Amino acid sequence: MASPTATKTPSASTDPESVANELLALCTSAVIESHQLPAELVNALLDREHAAQPFRESMAQPFRVDVLRLDQIHPVLQGNKIFKLLDHIPRWQQSSRTGWVTPGGCWSNHLHACAWLARRLGVPVTGLVRGYEHLPLTPMLEDCKRWGMTLVFLDKQSYRQRYDAEFQQRWRDHCDGYFIGEGGALAVNAEPAVSQPGTAAFQWLGQQCQGYESVWMAAGSGTTAGQLMPYLPSDCALHVLNTVQDNGQLAEHLQNRWIHLRHKQNWHLHASQQGGFGKARKQAKPLLERLGSLGLVLDPIYGLPLLKALLLHHCQASARKGLAQARPPLLIHGGGLQGRRGVGLAWRSPD
Ligand SMILES: *Cc1c(COP(=O)(O)O)cnc(C)c1O
Repeated sequence: MASPTATKTPSASTDPESVANELLALCTSAVIESHQLPAELVNALLDREHAAQPFRESMAQPFRVDVLRLDQIHPVLQGNKIFKLLDHIPRWQQSSRTGWVTPGGCWSNHLHACAWLARRLGVPVTGLVRGYEHLPLTPMLEDCKRWGMTLVFLDKQSYRQRYDAEFQQRWRDHCDGYFIGEGGALAVNAEPAVSQPGTAAFQWLGQQCQGYESVWMAAGSGTTAGQLMPYLPSDCALHVLNTVQDNGQLAEHLQNRWIHLRHKQNWHLHASQQGGFGKARKQAKPLLERLGSLGLVLDPIYGLPLLKALLLHHCQASARKGLAQARPPLLIHGGGLQGRRGVGLAWRSPD
């Protein structure tokens, strides 16, 4: 006898096309909110991280920032991860692989979203986790496990091979899985042509930037920034915060994307000010709490450093020009709120 939960309702269909359309509807449901940050909070955000920087003047005015709240579209399938996963659904269907296999760290927002989406689609998924089996699972990995993801732990050296074609093929064959790159990137040698509805989602994202002089986003792999570029209005400057300490790979990747787009040069890459990827600092907690109480809920790894970088840039510019803030910048909220648990803040995981 079928259990009541197994009863199919139209919205619970696992048909990949319906699910993709459902995700596209979620993506395009995000709204832009205006936030006025009190001057005293702006100074707190600037001072702690940037005390060593030449900029020391205090801001006397509240600061307005507009935020595209991609974090609000779904408890788990939020932020840029859902935009990137959309493109993988038709690719996976074409691959004729049974399931998915994808790498990520032990706090990866990508693994989290993948595990949830795989369950939604009824697809078996293997997470290749950078870490060690004998260590306690992070709350993120607990979620993935509960949602049915098979966790395979790889040590640092094996994990380092995740961009190799041979590594990806080995895992494809081993799991009969379609390979999704780290952070939702395409696999090595994948056809670059994007498909509907992935294209539609990024087109929509580009439209939201219309009318803004500057748009800010955080980058890990740079996949989201790269996919947004073709759809960005030409008078709009894209500011990308690199959250990873790399050796210029991200800059190179984005540069290559722009070159394909006929000499558009309107982008800026800002170097990470943090002590390394994933190293959320304890001092982030009180700032995140303050911002949260103002309705601006951010994660410690991407969102908070992004806001700090944006404020630093705008405050330095206005100090140089002696101007009040002209037009508000747009911050694209990348989601990732489950990561708040990494600095001891509450986040309720859905079942
Ligand atoms: C994954 C992630 C990013 C980085 O996205 P990329 O496409 O890998 O550059 C930024 N912000 C949040 C919250 C993320 O989870």
